[in-house]
Amino acid sequence: MSSYKGKCHCGQTEWSVKLEKDQQKHILCHCDTCKVLGGGAFTLNQIVPKSAISFSKGGDSIKAYTYKGDSGNEVKCYYCPNCTTHVYHHQLVMGPDTVIARTVLLGDDGKKFDPGAEIYGKAKMAWEKEVATTFELLPPS
Ligand SMILES: [Zn+2]
Ligand SMILES: [Zn+2]
Repeated sequence: MSSYKGKCHCGQTEWSVKLEKDQQKHILCHCDTCKVLGGGAFTLNQIVPKSAISFSKGGDSIKAYTYKGDSGNEVKCYYCPNCTTHVYHHQLVMGPDTVIARTVLLGDDGKKFDPGAEIYGKAKMAWEKEVATTFELLPPS
């Protein structure tokens, strides 16, 4: 288990995420929502217990944007109210204690993570090469 420090673009929000050895990887999400919210071809994430994320700065002022996910259930996107950096997402369908942290925000150490898997492969841009095991939607649970 190691702790990684996250920081938003403006510096108003800072947090840390604890990751077990097997979680120290980026899960690439190619879904269309990630494209719109992230402005890129995919996002880099990891599923963590909610208790693994702790705020050291700006945690009280963080805002949530709520939308309907693929499953029809609500998803909450928690972001810095000043610069809109996404700290983590919470899919209510996953229960109250499981959230999705943005691994690309976890400093220089986080940037060195290898790709662990690719999800929503069905929405992947045609020119993207496969860099990890790719699932059409989600891995079988
Ligand atoms: Zn910010
Ligand atoms: Zn996505």
